[in-house]
Amino acid sequence: MIGISLYYKLITIWIALAFGVFFILLKVPVPYGRNTRSGWGPLVSAKWGWLLMESTASISLFIFYLIGVTEKGVVLLIFLLFWEIHYINRAFIYPFRIRGDRKQMTLSVIVVVFVFNILNGYFNGVYLFSLSSHFSTLWLRDIRFIGGCILFCTGFAINLISDSYLRKLRNKNDRKYSIPNGFLFNVVSCPNYLGEIIEWLGWAILTWSIAGLSFFIWTAVNLIPRSLSHHGWYKKKFPNYPESRKALIPYVL
Ligand code: NDP
Repeated sequence: MIGISLYYKLITIWIALAFGVFFILLKVPVPYGRNTRSGWGPLVSAKWGWLLMESTASISLFIFYLIGVTEKGVVLLIFLLFWEIHYINRAFIYPFRIRGDRKQMTLSVIVVVFVFNILNGYFNGVYLFSLSSHFSTLWLRDIRFIGGCILFCTGFAINLISDSYLRKLRNKNDRKYSIPNGFLFNVVSCPNYLGEIIEWLGWAILTWSIAGLSFFIWTAVNLIPRSLSHHGWYKKKFPNYPESRKALIPYVL
């Protein structure tokens, strides 16, 4: 098992890499969904792509839970449950509800996300289930745990509801885009991303760990540029797009 000092060195590099990636993603949108374009390799089924790349996260954290050397109390079990609830939806439910005529996804995106999810599962799993030692049942009464849980659940709900609003914009075999309205779409273009970011902020707080923080940073690094890109795309495509709507954070960004 890795020592704590080597772990801290590696995760510092991992976080530094996220900041570098942020500036790249501001210029180069990840090629999937409306940003799919040629030059990024072959296209494969989006449904199976989502399942393959996201199930890795679910499996990898579970493996680190099983092999972790820290005594497995109720707190670690709750951490695992939160993570699995998110990824069971993302890997095994979400892909089968996507609408769009035989949607496809770039293979290179699937490979990159697959690798990311292994590394992210590693950094979170090793820290929480092998290196940490401060999660006794007292943690359940800590304000950081309670506040983090509230944020996580709020973000998860916002993400789920927003994704369902987007889904309803299309019939089963439809590929067209329209302006989403209702719920938080009245104030931002991408409430699903806002929910996801809040969720992993909650995770960082409820686990009070550098591992959780790294995941929150990576999520923001991914989704802030993508929300800006979606927002710009909406404004260009729909001349009647609501002026007051922001990209990601109501009234701010
Ligand atoms: P998008 O908002 O781009 O798309 C979600 C789905 O809704 C897609 O099927 C998309 O179709 C469809 N859709 C979006 N806008 C419209 C519209 N205006 N009209 C009709 N259909 C629309 O989300 P992503 O695909 O990027 O992400 C999906 C989920 O994964 C989200 O919940 C997101 O939070 C999460 N995610 C998490 C990341 C992380 O780092 N933790 C990274 C990326 C995603 P189409 O694909 O054809 O555009």
